Amino acid sequence: MPRHSNQPPRRLSGLLPGLCLAWGLSVSGCAGPNLWTDGTSVSTGKTNRGRTRHPAKLPYKGRGFVVPKRWKDRGFQYGVDELVAAIQRAAARVRGRAARIKLGVADISPKRGGKSQWHASHQSGRDVDLIFYTVDEKGRPLGPPEEMIHFDDEGKPYEKPRQTYDDASWSSRRFDTAHNWKLIESLLTDPTIRLQWVFVSEGLKQRLLAYAVREKRPAWVIAYAKVVLRQPRDAPPHDDHFHIRIYCNRGDRFYGCVDRGVVWHHEKKSFRYEGLERYDPVMWRLMTGLPLLTAG
Ligand SMILES: [Zn+2]
Repeated sequence: MPRHSNQPPRRLSGLLPGLCLAWGLSVSGCAGPNLWTDGTSVSTGKTNRGRTRHPAKLPYKGRGFVVPKRWKDRGFQYGVDELVAAIQRAAARVRGRAARIKLGVADISPKRGGKSQWHASHQSGRDVDLIFYTVDEKGRPLGPPEEMIHFDDEGKPYEKPRQTYDDASWSSRRFDTAHNWKLIESLLTDPTIRLQWVFVSEGLKQRLLAYAVREKRPAWVIAYAKVVLRQPRDAPPHDDHFHIRIYCNRGDRFYGCVDRGVVWHHEKKSFRYEGLERYDPVMWRLMTGLPLLTAG
């Protein structure tokens, strides 16, 4: 007679965590949307219908970046670990030793993700709005404005009909092509994230590409930028900020993260052959000497 035969059968709900735990010992996690995580951030669902769990929080300021007041007040500083870290890395790289060069970071996602009054997407911690770097008429770098300013194809600012800016210096600001390109190149070449889209107006895209060609940037980065920089068809032209969207990392895909839309050719092989991704933000930050982020 088995020893426990007189005990009532365990209910399924009690059994599941046990199964997950036993299985988790081998794969360090538990599968399924809104079950457990592998201890890092998880993006679930789609960018326009999704959530975040255990997101990282971007600090309000750091080396080469700041979250201007309007966006600080909204509190949308939460994203997947790898995106939050990549923003900081890119901002630090663009800044270099020039303390005046500062990226304005607008919305990522709210703490738990989901819908908001401001965005259709930005729901699952994989979108971020970045304010353009600007210079004055003499080409000297200016700090990020407290609002998003529209730029025409020549990189000159303009007001939309019935729009006025609070920023007194708006009309002297110019699109800083050099630093905006450097930002995009930093994000495109960051091995921990893979960009699906950089939404930006066609005119500004052409400015950035022309600059990159002139500066003899690596051909593959320019080719990559040509593909992912895009003026969206179903949304405003994005001539006042970059909207960056990254693919689900493969670990998150396992927990219910869903990419929508195009999968670029260069991505397809990694989707097919590389299996589960085990991005480890703690290890990464220890290796690169960056301070550890506080988990949301
Ligand atoms: Zn956006």
